[in-house]
Order: sequence, then structure tokens, then C-alpha cells
Amino acid sequence: MPESLIGRLALGLLLSAAIGGIGVWRQALTWGGTAGAVVVGTLIFAFGGLAWAIPMVGFFVAGSVLSALGRERKRALAAVAAKGARRDLVQVLANGGAATVLALAAGSTGKATLLFPAYLGVLAAVTADTWSTEIGGLSRHPPRLVTTLAVVPPGTSGGVTPLGLLAAGAGGLCIGAIGWLSLLLDAEPAGLKPVHVLALGALAGLAGSLVDSLLGATVQEVRWCPVCRFATEAAIHRCGAPSVPHRGWPGLNNDAVNFLASLIGIPAGVLVVALA
Ligand SMILES: [Zn+2]
Repeated sequence: MPESLIGRLALGLLLSAAIGGIGVWRQALTWGGTAGAVVVGTLIFAFGGLAWAIPMVGFFVAGSVLSALGRERKRALAAVAAKGARRDLVQVLANGGAATVLALAAGSTGKATLLFPAYLGVLAAVTADTWSTEIGGLSRHPPRLVTTLAVVPPGTSGGVTPLGLLAAGAGGLCIGAIGWLSLLLDAEPAGLKPVHVLALGALAGLAGSLVDSLLGATVQEVRWCPVCRFATEAAIHRCGAPSVPHRGWPGLNNDAVNFLASLIGIPAGVLVVALA
């Protein structure tokens, strides 16, 4: 690990560009998404170090692999969603923004040990949301709205399936496991036992997914295509007709909800460490 910040930024840029290049090649990212991922990856590596960078890479790799699963069946979700399978810049920042700010805070205050559980919590929350979307989208059972339990079309914000919830817990656990291994690499587990870090991942993951669904079912903006008579998240429906506001807060789209839900990982991470 280079001693100087410039050296760490350079090495982080090199590694992030390599991973971002794979993301473009695998069609997991748009060019804007790649630029965002390189900035996020470089800053997390330079300010947080290897132990912070590895779980972020784990989030990205697992998300890209899961996204490619069952492409055919996920076409049905595309009728509702505003965006395609490739992550764009706003999606990358919604998922990686809070984590990047925590890494910057860790690097500039020297409180990395203190902030790491919050960072891992945020990462577990966004990973859980990605896993529950990608795996839950393959469920043979129609989703139910988290608030009223009414059956809703696949892809509807706030819709949950047992498979999706299971995937959320598994995604959080996975980040917990990677986080523990990264701590070992850094030789500084700081009093944390594996069970603490795994519990942190699972709790933050489930909390993140639940908050995401709750916000999705209540305040997230839903638009309406008057031509197809179909709820959508896109301003222009894929039929070409402009959609009109239907319910929720105007402008509070899926990306904004993802970002807000990721923040629940901070108290979740801090709570587990306080109880440990
Ligand atoms: Zn339409």
C-alpha cells in the first residue's frame, strides 16, 4: 500500500479502471456508470484502504453476475422500470455515494476502525437491495405490496416476495463475510468477532431492503402511461408516450429511494458493534 495519498489514488485509479473496464465489457455499466464506478472505487481505495475496497468490489461483481441471471424472465420487469439492466451514473452514485463519503471521512479523520461498521452496513443494505431485486425478480410467485400485502405486478416498487427477502438476507450476509475477510487482511479486526460482522451484514441487509420496499410502497414517485394504462417509473414510457404523475412525491425516484434506504445501514452497523 503506497504511503502517499497521490500514490494510493494512482493505484486505486488503476484497479478501479480495470474493474470498470470489465463492467463495460460485461454490459453491466453504461459509460457514465463506469466513470462513476471508477471515481467511487478510486476514492474508497485511497481513503479507506484495501479492507474497504474489497467489499465494494464484492458488491459490484455479485450484482453484475446476478443481473445477468434469467434475462428473459426479467423482461417483464422492464415494462415498469425506468432504466435498463446497465447501471448508469445516477444508479452508481445512489448505491456508492454514502459509502464513498464514509471512506472520505475515515481517511481524513483517521477513524477508520470506528467508521468501518457503518460503511459495511451501508454496503450490506445496497447489496441486499440489488440481490432482492435480481433474485426476487425470478420468483414464480407474484410480489405483494409490503404495506397492504396486495398482489402487485412484478417490478412494482414496494413489492416483496419471500424469495426476494431471503436474497436480501443472503446478500447482507455475503457482504458481512467479505467484510470479515477484508478485516483479517488488514490485520485489524478491532475487537470484532466473525459473528458480529455476519450479524451486521444480515441485519443491515434486511433493514435496507425493508426500508427500500416501505419507501417504494409509500412515497416513491409512480407515473402512469395514459396510452397503455400502465404504471411506470419512466418519464417517457417505452411506448413513446409521456407518462403523468400518478402517486408519491414528484422526483423521488427509484435512485433517490435506493440512496435513502442505504443510509439505514449506518445505524444498523453502529448498533451491532455497540451490542457486540
Ligand atoms: Zn405506454
